[in-house]
Amino acid sequence: MQIDTGGNWMTPYIRFLSEGTLPEDANDAKRVKKTAGWYTILNGRLYRRGYSAPLLKCLTPEEADYALAEVHLGLCGSHIGGKNLAFNVMRQGFYWPTMKRDAMEFVRKCESCQVHGNMTHQPHTELHYLQSPWPLRMGGTYYWSTPNGGWMEKIYDRRYRLFYEMGGSCPTR
Ligand SMILES: [Zn+2]
Repeated sequence: MQIDTGGNWMTPYIRFLSEGTLPEDANDAKRVKKTAGWYTILNGRLYRRGYSAPLLKCLTPEEADYALAEVHLGLCGSHIGGKNLAFNVMRQGFYWPTMKRDAMEFVRKCESCQVHGNMTHQPHTELHYLQSPWPLRMGGTYYWSTPNGGWMEKIYDRRYRLFYEMGGSCPTR
């Protein structure tokens, strides 16, 4: 049985399932022991069990990149968004632990998506109406200390924009 044991995320699981050896690092060992039940080896390849899915083939980082590219911009690719991309790759029967994050990253770097994607000039959140609770709430005179130990007086208008500034000694009123 030929098992790929090149160093990647699968190596500890393959070692544990085939030889029974755990990583030297205690935390890694604990993690692998705890989650090894999700994985199984078939014909020299690591597979992950799903809850309601067939066994998912575990991919190396290089294979993962290829799978993302194939599903996102391959022949049948439709430049779908990150979450859907990860879901579709999983539906194709593949798995690796960081697939969601990698898919998002992949879409963010896709040139076609950047150039031809829909432009949504919408704010991320609902807009709120801002109103001062009392007149001049946003304006007034402020005193700032300066690096040379003095004070600086700044007067702000109601829209909080500096329209007048002067240096000098400070009244401490
Ligand atoms: Zn794209």
